[in-house]
Amino acid sequence: MRVLGLLGLFGLAARAADSGHLPDALELLEEHPLIDGHVDLPFVVRSLGKSPLDTLRKYHDSMPGHIDLNRMLEGRLGGLFMVAWTPCPASHSGPPARYLFTGEGVRDTLEAIDIIKEIVANAPDHFVLCWSSDEVRQAKKEGRIATLIGVEGGHQLGNSLAVVRQYAALGVRYITLTHTCHNVFASSAGSGDAIAPVYPGDGLTPLGIALVEEMNRLGVVVDLSHTSPGTMRDALKVTRAPVMFSHSGARGVYDHPRNVPDDVLDLIGEGEGQVDGVVMAVFYPPFVDPGNATIHRVADHIEYIADKCGRRHVGIGSDFDGIDSAVEGLEDASKYPYLVAEMLRRGWSDSDVVGLLGDNILRILDGADRTAKEMATMPASAAVLESRVDLPCQWGGPGNAYLAKEVQEYLKGHRRDEL
Ligand SMILES: [Zn+2]
Repeated sequence: MRVLGLLGLFGLAARAADSGHLPDALELLEEHPLIDGHVDLPFVVRSLGKSPLDTLRKYHDSMPGHIDLNRMLEGRLGGLFMVAWTPCPASHSGPPARYLFTGEGVRDTLEAIDIIKEIVANAPDHFVLCWSSDEVRQAKKEGRIATLIGVEGGHQLGNSLAVVRQYAALGVRYITLTHTCHNVFASSAGSGDAIAPVYPGDGLTPLGIALVEEMNRLGVVVDLSHTSPGTMRDALKVTRAPVMFSHSGARGVYDHPRNVPDDVLDLIGEGEGQVDGVVMAVFYPPFVDPGNATIHRVADHIEYIADKCGRRHVGIGSDFDGIDSAVEGLEDASKYPYLVAEMLRRGWSDSDVVGLLGDNILRILDGADRTAKEMATMPASAAVLESRVDLPCQWGGPGNAYLAKEVQEYLKGHRRDEL
């Protein structure tokens, strides 16, 4: 099996004139899962036709964009977080009062989760939906691609912790606290241009603190990519579980608001006052280094983060299918092995590379699961967004005639602001 696998790689190896380390990289990838922290394939599926499920059946293993089954197999991908993303609603470009209205975000997130589950269902020999690190490792043994689910933005939660609980029940393993807009929970880093702060400290709101605690209780990993440094610092203070940055670089290599600043990297690790976490290096040229967007520069980000936090705290989060340009040498999902070869060329040991590929992020999942177990006796959070005007609900009809007489009497005896 292993020999056949290596023989099949000669085509790939032949193109790696610049790296004598490719055969070693491929050998590591045979044994250990490479897990990409951030892939927007569901977004492309949704963009290609009116019926996403028809689109899936039509394209199946070969799809426009950066990633599809054929290129996952060529790139030896062992697992990935497929992302359910919906854009920030127009209301979220205004002041916080407007964040009350989240549009169709919850429906569209559920539809994206449905697409992810259908991708798996359409090719069960190649994909398997996974929740835990054990399931990911089992998938690797079976030669299947471990598929995990992430949700990319607090604006997709309907401003409701109940929605978060139900996402968790559907298999969502991480939630990014913001996308490019601020939301009722947290402050964002914006989309590249400066974004004015709307909350004191430009960090988490009180409901955002409750969100982090509830995610900890549920075992949903807090993803801090896209968030403001204030949100990063607040979340690191509050969280009881390890965190992740699903697709970010280091500002120390290229100073972009989407990358992680040094003072936040200083808080990631396993030392005193640090929180365990993994920063998964992104492949998007404007974040990597627009003037030098190469595979070597991505490796520079990885090494910089590793130098600051340790090699146990890095991963790979391409953002494939969520970006409109690609790094030279990492143009699509077939190219992952070249990045692995580059790390070996730089002197990284096999075990360091295995951590970068997947062991590090699997440790974060284990940590989240451990915290959830410790918090298992805690009740679900009762926190609600105070400014919601739809609660208590007023669905009783004329004279509250749809409600039981006793409920009508109770409501007559109480002013709405007392409820
Ligand atoms: Zn993103």
